[in-house]
Amino acid sequence: MTAIANVAISKKGLQRLRQGFVWIFRSDLDGKTDAEPGAIVKVIDRGNNFLAYAFYSQSELALRVLTREDRLPDRAFFGRRLDEAIARRARYFPKSRDAMRVVHGEADMLPGWLVDRFGDALVVQSMSLASDQREPMLIELLIERFKPRAVVFRDDGMTREYEGLDDRKGLAHGTDARAAFHEGEIAFEIDLLADQKTGAFLDQYENHLLAAEYAKGEALDLFCYHGGFGLQMAKRAARVTCVDQSELAVSRVKANAERNGLANVTGVAANAFDLLREHEQAARRFDTIVIDPPAFAKRKSAIEAAYRGYKDLNMRAMRCLEPGGILISCSCSAKMTRDLFEEMLIDASRDAKRRMLILERRGASRDHPGLAGVPETEYLKCFVLQAVD
Ligand code: SAH
Repeated sequence: MTAIANVAISKKGLQRLRQGFVWIFRSDLDGKTDAEPGAIVKVIDRGNNFLAYAFYSQSELALRVLTREDRLPDRAFFGRRLDEAIARRARYFPKSRDAMRVVHGEADMLPGWLVDRFGDALVVQSMSLASDQREPMLIELLIERFKPRAVVFRDDGMTREYEGLDDRKGLAHGTDARAAFHEGEIAFEIDLLADQKTGAFLDQYENHLLAAEYAKGEALDLFCYHGGFGLQMAKRAARVTCVDQSELAVSRVKANAERNGLANVTGVAANAFDLLREHEQAARRFDTIVIDPPAFAKRKSAIEAAYRGYKDLNMRAMRCLEPGGILISCSCSAKMTRDLFEEMLIDASRDAKRRMLILERRGASRDHPGLAGVPETEYLKCFVLQAVD
C-alpha cells in the first residue's frame, strides 16, 4: 500500500475544521502537498499533529473531511457510516415508506455521495474523484444491505464540472433502470437513467404531501416535473394544471395521473414564465399555485439576476391568486439564502399590491438534513403564503 500523504492546513483552515466545517478549500492549505488527487489523506496542523482523514481533490475544494478519529478509514468504516445513515432515517420514517434519500453526502458524513432509494432500485450519485474511485465499493455495501433489484449510477450532477470530472451514467447492477415508488398514496414510475436528477425530487416529498392539505379549486403546478405537487393536489382541488417545459416530464405527469385514477389533471408542455405572464394579462385566477423553478443562482455573481427572476415569478403568481388563495413558493438555489428568499417574497407582494400572510417556512424533507453550522448543506426553501384579500 502506498504511504498516506499529509496535507497541512492553515490557522484559518483549522478554525473552520473546529467549527465543524466539512470542506476545506485550497486557500486554507498550508504549503504544498504531494497527495494524489482522489486519495485519502491525513490532515495535519503546522505542528504536524493529526487532525482528520479526508478525501483529497485537485480542485479548489481540496479536502472533504471523513473523520477526526486517528484510524485510517477502510471498507468497514464506510459500511458503518452507511448503517448509521440508514438507522437515523429508520427512527423517523415508517417501514412502509418506499422512497427516500438514503445518503445525503456531507450531512451523513459520506462526502461526495448521494444515494436515493425508489422501491427496489437504488441510484448513486458521486461528486468527486475520490468518491468516483470508491463508487464500486459503495455499491457493494449498498447491495449487501438492500438486496436491490437494480442499482444505477448517475454521476452527472452539476458540481462535477467544477471538479474537472466528466459525466457518466449506467446500470451497475440488474437489467432494468425503470422503478416504481410512492409518495404517500400516489404511485409514480420513473426511468432512473432517462429522467432528470436521480429520477425524482425526493427533497420535496413532504412538501408535496403538505400541498394536498392546502389545495382547493383551480390549482396550478408550475415547473411540475412528474407532478409531485400537482398529483397530490388533485385529490382535493377541482382541477390541476401541471406545467413543465420538458415534454418527457409532462408525458410522465399524464401517465402518473392515469395510473392513480386522477381525471382532473391536465399536463401542459410550456415555458412557465410565458404561461404565467399570459394568465396575468388575461386576469386568470387560481385558488392554489405552486412555483418550484430550477436553481437560478448557481454562482454568487448570478444572485442579483436570480433575485429579479424569482421576484418577477412570485409577483405574477400573487396577482393570479383568488382572495384567500394559497401560494407555495420554492427555491433550490443555495446562494439564495432563506432570509433573502423571504425578503424577495415581501418585495414581490408589495409590487403585486397583494397583502400576503406567511403560513409556513419549510425546507427539504428530513432525509435531506442540513448539517448545523454548514450552510452548504441547506439549500431548499418552501414557503406557504396566503393572499389576505
Ligand atoms: N416541482 C417538481 C420539481 C421541479 S424541478 C417536483 O416537486 O417534483 C424544475 C423543473 O422545471 C424541471 O422539471 C424542468 O424541466 C422545469 N423547467 C425548467 N425551466 C422551465 C421553464 N422555463 N418552464 C417550465 N419548466 C421549466
